Amino acid sequence: MAKDYYEILGVSKNATTQEIKKAYRKLAIKYHPDKNPGNKEAEAKFKELSEAYEVLTDQKKRSMYDQFGHDAFKKSGGGRNGGMGGMGGFHDPFDIFSQVFGSGGGGGSIFEEFFGGGRQGSRGGAQEGADLRYDLEIDFEDAVYGTDKKIAYNRMQSCNTCHGSGCKPGSGKTTCSRCGGSGYVTTNHAFLSMRQPCPTCHGTGQVIEKPCTNCRGEGRVRAQKNIQIHIPPGVETGSRLRVAGEGEAGANGGPSGDLYVVIHVKPHDVFKRDGLDIMCEVPISFATATLGGIVEVPTIAGKAKLKIPEGTQTGTVLRLKGKGMPSLRGGRRGDQHIRVFVEIPQKLTKAQKEKLMEFAEASKDNHPMMNSFMEKAKGFFKGK
Ligand SMILES: [Zn+2]
Ligand SMILES: [Zn+2]
Repeated sequence: MAKDYYEILGVSKNATTQEIKKAYRKLAIKYHPDKNPGNKEAEAKFKELSEAYEVLTDQKKRSMYDQFGHDAFKKSGGGRNGGMGGMGGFHDPFDIFSQVFGSGGGGGSIFEEFFGGGRQGSRGGAQEGADLRYDLEIDFEDAVYGTDKKIAYNRMQSCNTCHGSGCKPGSGKTTCSRCGGSGYVTTNHAFLSMRQPCPTCHGTGQVIEKPCTNCRGEGRVRAQKNIQIHIPPGVETGSRLRVAGEGEAGANGGPSGDLYVVIHVKPHDVFKRDGLDIMCEVPISFATATLGGIVEVPTIAGKAKLKIPEGTQTGTVLRLKGKGMPSLRGGRRGDQHIRVFVEIPQKLTKAQKEKLMEFAEASKDNHPMMNSFMEKAKGFFKGK
């Protein structure tokens, strides 16, 4: 015996859609499979929740359910509106926990799936709202530490005047006379009988008596939406953040689409990112490179001391472990790699030059690279 949908969500029979959504979100977070790996009970519970949510947030399905209970959705065929069967493919408004944050790369092809137009629902007339894309540019620091951002965008929203029904307040809908309320019309061509959505009521089975003046009967209006989104630490250019239900409102009782926020990280003057690692170039003095020493270097977590070994050459890459980017999926941070280069002093004074000449004279035997290079070059001159 299937459980009562209202009981599953812990809401009363006359709960508003908002209350149902709120109850669902709370429970969905608790029982989401990503939070309960391998827990069959949680998985079953989550399935139940999704099913209840799917039905109770859809005005048409909800009223069917209120009237007929679970029988309303049995695939017995011959139902009032054959298209109602097949509840498969539950919308999971919370798969924000799953791989929302793609690694970027790969280019645009995936977006075509996400940002295609609205999908036609299986039910007559109900149409899921289109997913929307919002490109958000953030500072390098925001990608490192995470941040909250307010964004504003235009989307189709449920009309406030008619609450999405499309009917002028005080009026209602009547059964479509063309299809008798089934939402389908059957046309016969020779031996073929074709069933198509009714063109008069667009498959809804009902027609609006007096259209709402605010939305002209569409039930939706274009309006600006302001939301605040949380950018988790570790995002990179191409990361996609899915905000469930913040896409365009659905038509004829269909669910809303989702909003995908695509991250673009501005380049930084000092740091460059490579996966979880941070790269940066640091100049060191000729004396430090030769004698070795400690230099102060910038990291994303503040200043750090870096040990320069004696005799360090330009191009040497030194590593500061764990000073790289935080991982979006938790776990080990990246490293910071510091490529040092030796700054050759310029505009020396006479006294400095004299000291350096003296040094050069005394360090003639300290250049193994130069010597081995000359050895190799000799072979070339011999042949001439
Ligand atoms: Zn309206
Ligand atoms: Zn019709």
